[in-house]
Amino acid sequence: MPDREPRDEESRTRWQNPVAGFGVTFTAMFKKRLTEQYPEYKKPVAPRFHGRHQLNRHPDGLEKCIGCELCAWACPADAIYVEGADNTDEERYSPGERYGRVYQINYARCILCGLCIEACPTRALTMTNEYELADRTRESLIYTKEELLAGLEEGMVDTPHAIFPGMTEQDYYRGQVTEAAPGTVRQVAVSKGERSEDGEEAEPAEKAEGADA
Ligand code: SF4
Ligand code: SF4
Repeated sequence: MPDREPRDEESRTRWQNPVAGFGVTFTAMFKKRLTEQYPEYKKPVAPRFHGRHQLNRHPDGLEKCIGCELCAWACPADAIYVEGADNTDEERYSPGERYGRVYQINYARCILCGLCIEACPTRALTMTNEYELADRTRESLIYTKEELLAGLEEGMVDTPHAIFPGMTEQDYYRGQVTEAAPGTVRQVAVSKGERSEDGEEAEPAEKAEGADA
């Protein structure tokens, strides 16, 4: 008699276990589905979600980046590489004295913390909601200035081009320039090896070493 109780227990669990398993399945059938249909459906992120960076432009198309490197110094992951250069009247990228000639962000290092955008004095650097940053090689995770630069909106002319006539750099930050001046045309990017108007091919800019992969 004393050994009957354990055997009853054993036979009970032998048929109860599978039934209990189906019970879990059955109750789950009536619960709200948590499956994300990604990538067919992309769930909207919070408005201030930290995604891929963007280099912004002034309303006439000139670039806001002044090549000061403050973002690179603020970055705890050493993910940003900047090289500044001087604007000239013949080749102008930003309203002031300097512009960011080379700008790279290494997304193999970036932790999307946002410290760089806090450090930027001109609001040239902000973060978008774009989060699809995965890629197959380290090289492709280094985004260049051309990839990070904001697209052209209505009223903008692509850089390089002249500053709005009669306006100063400060006027741009006061919001007094709202679009490109009538007749603004893109200048020849001589430092990038484009041909000048007289047909002479200029020396291409020195290739930057850039952010380490
Ligand atoms: S978000 Fe953070 S880690 Fe990424 S580049 Fe900016 S400062 Fe560096
Ligand atoms: S993005 Fe901002 S902080 Fe970075 S180099 Fe340009 S102006 Fe300076």
